[in-house]
This record gives sequence, structure tokens and C-alpha cells, in this order.
Amino acid sequence: MITLFDSNKRQKLCFEPISPKQVRIYVCGPTVYDDAHLGHARSSIAFDLWRRLFLFLDFKVIFAKNFTDIDDKIIKKSLQNGISVEEVSERYIELYLNDMHALGILRPDLEPKATSNLPQMHEMIEQLLQKGYAYKGENNDVYLSIAKDKAYGSLSQRTTHEQNQSRITNANDKQEESDFALWKGYKGEDDIAYDSPFGKGRPGWHIECSAMIEKHLAYDMREKQDFAIDIHAGGADLLFPHHENEASQTRCATGRELAKYWLHNGFVNINGEKMSKSLGNSFFIKDALKVYDGEILRNYLLGVHYRLALNFNEEDLLQSKKRLDKIYRLKKRIMAERIIDSMPQAKALDSSELAQQLESLHTLKTHTKNAQDSFIKPLLEALSDDYNISKALSIIEEMLSLSNDYLDKNPKDKAYKLAISGNLACIEYLLGLGGKDPTLYFQLGLTEQEKQDIESKLQLRTEAKKQKNYALADSIRDDLKAQGIEIMDTPQGSTWEKI
Ligand SMILES: [Zn+2]
Repeated sequence: MITLFDSNKRQKLCFEPISPKQVRIYVCGPTVYDDAHLGHARSSIAFDLWRRLFLFLDFKVIFAKNFTDIDDKIIKKSLQNGISVEEVSERYIELYLNDMHALGILRPDLEPKATSNLPQMHEMIEQLLQKGYAYKGENNDVYLSIAKDKAYGSLSQRTTHEQNQSRITNANDKQEESDFALWKGYKGEDDIAYDSPFGKGRPGWHIECSAMIEKHLAYDMREKQDFAIDIHAGGADLLFPHHENEASQTRCATGRELAKYWLHNGFVNINGEKMSKSLGNSFFIKDALKVYDGEILRNYLLGVHYRLALNFNEEDLLQSKKRLDKIYRLKKRIMAERIIDSMPQAKALDSSELAQQLESLHTLKTHTKNAQDSFIKPLLEALSDDYNISKALSIIEEMLSLSNDYLDKNPKDKAYKLAISGNLACIEYLLGLGGKDPTLYFQLGLTEQEKQDIESKLQLRTEAKKQKNYALADSIRDDLKAQGIEIMDTPQGSTWEKI
């Protein structure tokens, strides 16, 4: 049984899919006008974890995340830089995908873009006009009248902006302040416009998600389901007005609710403040990746329950890295003892192709069959309980420590090592951690040139040892140690790690 905290009902519910063993998930993606920040990383990781859990439990998962590629901020950026709106959005989509790849996020099955789905938006707006939920304002604007939707506010428990922070700038023709734009009429030179049945203009932000869900993800209307999809997810800041408005549009246009469950992830705070561009404390993923490998960041960001706020702090990040080190330490130990052939390789995170990623997960799944019941059962139980990550991580820590103790006493137990490799495959599948070659993991943060220099020094040392020049061999070891490099002598030869 899976339970999850539904923002709509404001309680933990037992997950019952609309269609057996299927789950359709939609996550609101980024507005592509700037680099992605740690808030995007957190949200992406949170729902990547849920997706992996459903996949592990053999659900047929369809996972969609959109790109908002029409927006005031994109237009502003294009004007500032003298490049087209398409160039701005294409550039930031590519950068976003690179960041997600570095964080080990599986590519969504569907990545709809607003500009590619205008006819669906027109259709939904037409329906809303015909049914009387929407009205035309001046200058080709179209608004949704929230007074006509009796259930408006049921998701977020809010109906109005407390500080009137509407995204709508030209709102003089609205009947009510809280009505929101479905279509924004062309404002002139510095605007961008597409043809529509309502005149030249561009869609409002909210309509794209409702329309794209109907087109790409929703259950067929003929199936007469009460909900379009199983799970709608996003950052807690999207609950109002974005998700409330999406829910309203779909309800009014189609007569069914948008999602059976609504999941929201917590903020990332820096120095205790809500991370927000307007506060000027933005922390881009690309900057974090200059210092830390994506997997180290992932490991840190997933360590706090997805619904809670995470106070970004480098000391905590380094502390959490010890857990990842332990995972790789055990993997290295098993590989050194020639269980290597049965260990999956880290193809999934090195490829941007969804098909290859899923293929890799499939291979990993066969390895997970070797896992110990005493490990995987409580782990799945913890994760199935609204993704109780603290409990899951303590189960992992315990397994790592028990395994090391056992291997100290029984270094030749091959069946045990195979079971441990199964446990590690479960961690890689479910959490996206531990997929690298451990030798490479312990050398992270060095350039290829630095690695080559270390290898040359290691060779010199091996030569010196052969010639019984132990003084030279020792001085090379000391030199490397001073650079933070530790040499390990094994029966297969010398290796090294960055300490
Ligand atoms: Zn959305």
C-alpha cells in the first residue's frame, strides 16, 4: 500500500490509481528564461523519486513535465538581448536538461511545450466561453470568471491574492480583480502574438498545463473517469494561484476534476529565507555543479522529506556526503572482490535518452532480485509511507554497517556479496544513488590533467618499489598525501582516492 499526502484533502491518503497498476503524473516545469536554481533541483528530485518508486513497484508510469516557453519574462529577455523568443527558450531548455541530467533525473516521458500546443489551448478557452465560465475583455483578452466556478478555492483554500500579486499587468477590463487571463490580447510592438479565434495574442500561463494535460496525458473522456490524471505535482509556491486556476479551468471546461492527488514539495531556503529571485538570493544549479558533482547534490537534496523546507547549508551537504561515500565504499569492496561482473554499470545517469535510461533501470531491476528481504521490505515500506526518507536512509545506513561487519568476518561469502550487490542495485534504482564506478566516484573533483599527473606519479612509485628504492616510493606517497591523494596498495596493484 502506498500513502501520500494530498494537498487537496490536506491529509495522507491511500493511493488508489484511476486505472489498475497505472499512474499518470504531471509536474509543472520551468519557465525557460533563466538558469535553473536549487528550487527546481529539489522539485525535480522529489518527483523523480516518486516516479522511481512507482516504476519499481511495477506500475505503468506516464510522467509529463512541461516547458513554459511563452511568458512576459521570456519576452523581456529576448528584447534585452536582441534575440528571438525561440532562441531564449531553446537555450534555457537545453541548459535545464543539462542540469537535470547532472542531477540524475530521469527524462520525462512527455515534455510538452506551450508553443506546440496552442490549438488545444484555443479549444479549451472556446469551451469555457461557450459554457459561460469565461468572458471577453477589451483588446482580445479572455478571462475566467472565478465567481462562476463554485468550487474555486477548494484546492488551496484561497480565492484571492493577499497582496494582489497578479501576473496580469493589464487588468482594467476584468469584471473581478481575481479573474485570471486565459488569453492575453496583443499589446503592441514589444509583445508577441499568435493567431487565435479570439484575435491576436498569447495564452495566459495557467491554461497551458490544463490544455496539455487534456491532450497528452488525461484519460479519454469516453472512459468517464472523475479525474483527468492520477497525480499533479509541483512546488508549494504553485499551489495558488497556478494550480487552483488549472484545477478550475479543467473542472469548468471538461466537467471532471484535474487530478486525483495533488503533491507539493517544500521550498529551498538559503539563510533561512524563502529562496526567491525577487529576494536576490538565487542559487543556480550550474554554480553548485561547479563545486559539487550532481550526485552529491542529489544525495543532499533528497535527504530532507520532500514536503518540508530544506535550509541549504554546505556543512549539511558535506555531512550527507558521508552517506554516499559509505555506499560507494561498500560497492568498491564488493567490486574489488570480483562481484564486479554482476554489478550493473552506471549507464542510466550517463545517457540523456529516456529509452536507454529505462532499459538501464530494467537491467538494474533484475539485479534487485538478489536483494535481502530484510533490507528491501522495510525500505519499500518506508518509501511507500508518503516517501518517509528519514526512515529509508536509516535503513540504508544500517544495511551498510551490517554488511561491512559481516564482510569483515566472512570475506569470502560470495552469496552474501551477491545479496549486497542486490541491495545496492535497489538504492541505485530507487534513489538514483551509487550508479558510478566507485573508483571514479572517489576521484571526483579532479581534472583529467590532474588525474594523469597522479597516475604518472603512481607509476614512478611502482617502479621505485620494484627497484627497492623505498625512500623514493615513500616520498612520492607523502607528496601525494599532501595534495589530498591517498594511495591504496591492493593485490591487483595500487589505486588512489581523493580524500
Ligand atoms: Zn502548471
